[in-house]
Amino acid sequence: MHPRSVYAQRRALLAQKIGANGVAIIPTAPEQQRNRDSDFPYRADSYFYYLTGFTEPQAWLVVTGDGRSTLFCQPKDMEREIWDGYRLGPLAAPDQLGLEAAYSVAELDAQLPALIDGRDAVWYPFATHKGLETRIAHWLDSLRARVRYGALCPKTQNDLCGLLDEMRLVKDTYEQATMLRAGQISAGAHIRAMQTSANMLRAGQEVREYHLEAELLHEFRRHGSQFPAYGSIVAAGANACVLHYRADRGLVRDGELVLIDAACELDTYASDITRTFPANGVFTGPQRTLYEVVLAAQEAAIAATRPGARFTDPHDAAVKVLAQGMLDVGLLDRNKVGGLADVIEQRAYFQFYMHRTGHWIGMDVHDCGDYTEPGEIGQFSTRQDALTGATIKDRPARMLRPGMALTIEPGIYVRPADGVPEHFHNIGIRIEDDAVVTEAGCTLLTRDVPVAVAEIEALMRG
Ligand code: MG
Ligand code: ZN
Repeated sequence: MHPRSVYAQRRALLAQKIGANGVAIIPTAPEQQRNRDSDFPYRADSYFYYLTGFTEPQAWLVVTGDGRSTLFCQPKDMEREIWDGYRLGPLAAPDQLGLEAAYSVAELDAQLPALIDGRDAVWYPFATHKGLETRIAHWLDSLRARVRYGALCPKTQNDLCGLLDEMRLVKDTYEQATMLRAGQISAGAHIRAMQTSANMLRAGQEVREYHLEAELLHEFRRHGSQFPAYGSIVAAGANACVLHYRADRGLVRDGELVLIDAACELDTYASDITRTFPANGVFTGPQRTLYEVVLAAQEAAIAATRPGARFTDPHDAAVKVLAQGMLDVGLLDRNKVGGLADVIEQRAYFQFYMHRTGHWIGMDVHDCGDYTEPGEIGQFSTRQDALTGATIKDRPARMLRPGMALTIEPGIYVRPADGVPEHFHNIGIRIEDDAVVTEAGCTLLTRDVPVAVAEIEALMRG
């Protein structure tokens, strides 16, 4: 958790952005039932946590344009606390969290109209919390019912997401430090899974995907991570060609590759790492050939990740190297698809590379933030969407700036097909690291687990 002054600064900035006569309402996430009497592990709403550092459920934050913050939280209740655990309670909250006021969440309906009364605009995150719009409409209604007695109902409702997304898009030094730590823990987990795979195979043991997943989870948790940042992908052999495969019970075979896309969340900050390695610790010729192409593509994408570049630049750089590589190694037939320019123009590479090279990362693994440069919307530009081939007009891609964090994750996935050399069939490779844009270029947060062929083979040698 960051120092409490960090959250206070964020709230002060938010108050400034909504204007002196605005009011912002931010609920935390609801508890989610998994099945009867059993809930999913609780995880606070990202916006709410970003502004409070508070992890209890059943809580709301109200920020008014004059810079005052009011929290609504679960009241102290000795009996409930015996069952569900400690509650901070409204009495201790202002001091503990650096807020101006706090009430029991039971007082929400009684207090909210008064907090909204006389404001010009009410701000809240649109379309993110089920039932929120209805609740706010109810509070506004109760104000309208009292206009004859001098109540003033706000005239406008604004989406808070855009404001908070812009704030969250640029990570401060506390956020970067947490993300680096998450990356280090996750990197250690990848090393552990690689070594376990090779050791078990050498010992003649049966290895399944869940054996390797267990190593990842153990390593995340023993370093204090609260959750995996997303469902772990541990894909042995041909399973690597299923992009959203999950760790299952597939057999990890000697001679095949394993693709692991897994990383931890630490104090609500995600990491996101993919490594692809030979199950037994030694790449075969064809595996190595394709791996080197993906690695070179990632290097090109990393070099293109710097301030002033566009979000799409790393992807374009990766595609160029991948497409050239596909021609060079014979995945694509020059006589059928032509040269590099044709492969890119016709998107022939799409058969083997069908996803984007990155996404924002932060509190959410696919983090918030516009992928279009806000100040340039409507300005003349034409670009082709890398994934769909659709033409995007007058929406220039986002400019990278120091503090923005994104993943860099090219890959090659070879499903058996006519004309595709058999020795490449069923090979799926992705290499993914997390980058923060700096003044000079970018730094990688996740390189405690290596990517070079020789280094992976060395650490799996036992
Ligand atoms: Mg990933
Ligand atoms: Zn990713």
